[in-house]
Amino acid sequence: MNSTETHHEVDKRPLVVNVANPDDCVVTNRLPLHERLDRQTHDQVMRAAVAKAQDLIGRNRQKMVDDLEDWEGWRARAEQIRQDVLENIDAYLYKLSEEIDKRGGNVFFARTKEEATDYILSVIKAKNAKKVVKSKSMVTEEIGLNHVLEGAGVSVLETDLGEYLLQLAKDPPSHVVVPAIHRDRRQIQETLRKTMGYTGSDTPEDMTLFVRKTLRPEFFAADVGISGCNFAVAESGSMALVSNEGNARLCTTLPKTHIAVMGMERLAPSFAEVDVLITMLARSAVGQRLTGYNTWLTPPKRSGELDGPEEFHLVIIDNGRSDILASQFSPILQCIRCGACMNTCPCYREVGGHGYGSIYPGPLGAVLTPLIGGYEKFRDLPQVCTLCTACDSVCPVKIPLSGLIRRHRIAEVEMGIRPTGEKLAMKGFGVANGSPWLWNLTMKAGAPAMKLGIHNGRAPIEPSVIKAWTNMRDLPEGDGESFRTWFAEHEKSLENKKNQK
Ligand code: SF4
Ligand code: SF4
Repeated sequence: MNSTETHHEVDKRPLVVNVANPDDCVVTNRLPLHERLDRQTHDQVMRAAVAKAQDLIGRNRQKMVDDLEDWEGWRARAEQIRQDVLENIDAYLYKLSEEIDKRGGNVFFARTKEEATDYILSVIKAKNAKKVVKSKSMVTEEIGLNHVLEGAGVSVLETDLGEYLLQLAKDPPSHVVVPAIHRDRRQIQETLRKTMGYTGSDTPEDMTLFVRKTLRPEFFAADVGISGCNFAVAESGSMALVSNEGNARLCTTLPKTHIAVMGMERLAPSFAEVDVLITMLARSAVGQRLTGYNTWLTPPKRSGELDGPEEFHLVIIDNGRSDILASQFSPILQCIRCGACMNTCPCYREVGGHGYGSIYPGPLGAVLTPLIGGYEKFRDLPQVCTLCTACDSVCPVKIPLSGLIRRHRIAEVEMGIRPTGEKLAMKGFGVANGSPWLWNLTMKAGAPAMKLGIHNGRAPIEPSVIKAWTNMRDLPEGDGESFRTWFAEHEKSLENKKNQK
C-alpha cells in the first residue's frame, strides 16, 4: 500500500470531481464500451502490434532501469519533484509567466478548452496565417485544436511521423507516446499509397524517408508552429521538448510565430529538476537513456540570435485541472505522459488504446478521462482494469494508479450511477456476505449446484453479464465438493495421521 492509499481514510478532499464542462474532445469512439471491446478484441492486427510493442519496450525499459541503478531512489526524487510542483503550482506559474513576459513572450491562461482554442485561433488570424505545422501534443488533442483550426480554414499538418500517418488515415491516436502503435507496416504502406501515391516498399526506412521528403518543405512554408511542452522551466521561462524525430525543433524554430500549449501542471522549478524528469521520461517511455532530440527553448529570439521564432505565445490550460488538484485524484497530475503504464497493462494489451474510446487510454486514461470527460460518458473506464497493480510499479513518478481507479469505483457507487443489474448483484452479495449462516449455506449449496448445472463451460440460465463472460471463457464445472469441505477433510486426515504416529 502506498502513502496516498494509507491516508485514504482521513483524506477530507472531495472524492467526486464535478465536471463543470465535460470535455467532448477526449472522446475518440462513441460506441458503448462492450461493443468497442468486442471490436478491439477481434482486431488481430492491433493485438499483435500492441503485444509486440509492449514486449519490446518493456524489455528495453527494464535494461534502462537496471542501467540507472537505484531506480527506486530516482523514482522517489521524481515523485517528490512532481508533488512539490503541485503543492506550489501558483508560485511556479507566476514565476514562469513573469520570466516569459520579461523576454517579450506572451502567456495566456485558459480556463476551458474553448478559451484556449479561441486564443490560438486569434493569434493565427492576427498573423493572417494559412499554414500551421504541429509537433505531437496530447493537450492539443484534448482541446480538439486541429478540428477548430481546420473549421476556420487553417491548414494544420502533424509532423510527428506517427501522428502524420494517423492524420492521413483519419484515425485517432491510441497511445500517448507511440500514437500509431496499433498499426502494422502493411497498413501504413497502404495509407501512404492511397493518400500520397507512395510506391515504395513496406520497410520502415523507405516509408520514413518518403515522409521526411514530403514534410521537409512544409516546415519552411508554415506561418505558425504549434508544439506541446514536456516541461516548462519556471526559473527561466524555458520550454523542454523531447522527441525522437527532430520535428519539434523544426516546428518551434523555423516558423516566425511559435505557440506552445501546455497543461498547467507540466512545470518544473528549474533545469536541475527537468534533468531528473527527463531521465525518467526517456527510460520509461521508450527504454532509452535519452531521446534522439532534447530541445531547450527560451523564446522568442533575441536580437543577434540566428534561430528561433520572432513571436512566442504560451497557452496554459486548466480544463478541469484545478478541480482535480483540489480532489482526492490530485496525484494523477504528477503524470509526465511517459506511457509506461500502458506498456505494462494487461487490459491495454488486449483492447488497445481505441478500446478506451478516449485520447488518454490505458491506466492513465482510466483515471484521467472520467475527470475531464465526465462520468456520464466514461463511467465504464475504471472498470477496464483487473486491479493487478502492474501500472503502479512502473510509473516513474509513483502515481498510485490502481488506487485511483478504485476511488473512481467508490465515487460511482456513492453517486449511484452504476447499472441497476450490478447494483442488485452487489446488494445480494452484500446480504450473503454479511450473514455467516447464509454464506455457509451458499458455499455448501454452490459446489453441488455447479456440478449439476454447468455443462461444457455454460450455465443453464445466463443473464447478459454471465453470457458476456461465457462467450469468452468456460465456467468451471467443479466436482461437487466445496473448498471448505475439502479443506476440512484434508485437515482431519492430517490430524489422524499425526495421532497414528
Ligand atoms: S491495475 Fe488495472 S490499469 Fe493497472 S496495469 Fe493492472 S489492469 Fe491495468
Ligand atoms: S501515469 Fe505514470 S506511467 Fe502512466 S503515463 Fe503518467 S507518468 Fe507515465
